[in-house]
Amino acid sequence: MSEEIPFNRTLDLAPGVVAPVAPGVRRILVNNPGPFTFKGTLSYIVGRGKVAIIDPGPVDGGHTAALLDAVRGETVTHIIITHTHRDHSPGAAALKAATGAPTFGEGPHRPSRDLFIGESPRLDAGGDADFMPDHCITGGDVIEGHGFALEAIATPGHTANHMAFALKGTDVLFSGDHVMGWSTSIVAPPDGSMSDYLASLHRIAARPETAYLPGHGDVIRDAPDFVARYIAHRRGREASILHRLGKGETDIPTLVRAIYIGLDPRLTGAAALSTLAHLEDLAARGLVLTDGAPSISGRYRLPP
Ligand SMILES: [Zn+2]
Repeated sequence: MSEEIPFNRTLDLAPGVVAPVAPGVRRILVNNPGPFTFKGTLSYIVGRGKVAIIDPGPVDGGHTAALLDAVRGETVTHIIITHTHRDHSPGAAALKAATGAPTFGEGPHRPSRDLFIGESPRLDAGGDADFMPDHCITGGDVIEGHGFALEAIATPGHTANHMAFALKGTDVLFSGDHVMGWSTSIVAPPDGSMSDYLASLHRIAARPETAYLPGHGDVIRDAPDFVARYIAHRRGREASILHRLGKGETDIPTLVRAIYIGLDPRLTGAAALSTLAHLEDLAARGLVLTDGAPSISGRYRLPP
């Protein structure tokens, strides 16, 4: 399996314009492009007449208005969150206030593991600490709507509370930020966990759905092959880290410079955290040693 991932870096969609994307599914792009969001976050409207909205997006009055416009004459029955990052969940509050619809999500924002003494949640700026779902869901739960049903799939890793949703009776799966068509997903401790993330990739790889609608970027076709390449990419990165450690490199900044060739400088911090995520996973598996808990400033080595 080649570790090349066939990324699609086009998305023919203007912000705020509602457009059909799959049978019974519409999407609207938030006007929040950036190095972590691609062209912006995508909100999805599922059903007709009585609808669910998946990922209402950030606090953005224009986007909330566009969502309400898109469902004018319809009833919003469910507001569903894939995970609590600020570009996905905070818009739920305004949408709930306008529609009265209850919110659904795995749970509040939390780190994937306990923090070390003195450690701060580094990417906390990205977390939405205010969101609390009206209905907490777990993997296997089915959210029943009017003419549709969504099966929740626990996919922790990008965040501890990440959920994907399969649209029952179709080929469609809402993959959130777990699997995206334009880029790999960011896994940044302590928000994210690479061990959880890899387990979640294997969980989703075993599913039959072939079309993924992600939180950022266009539809992913041939999704099982795409996910297999995502997994191969992570295994490749793991091999690169082990290779560099074998050459005597010991710290995360040096590893990042050696492994992430041609990296967008705005993503250096994310690359360092992603490398830490791999090192945490490798240390947990006994393949890498460090003194104390793995940390961003730690020194790493291969076992003798
Ligand atoms: Zn996210």
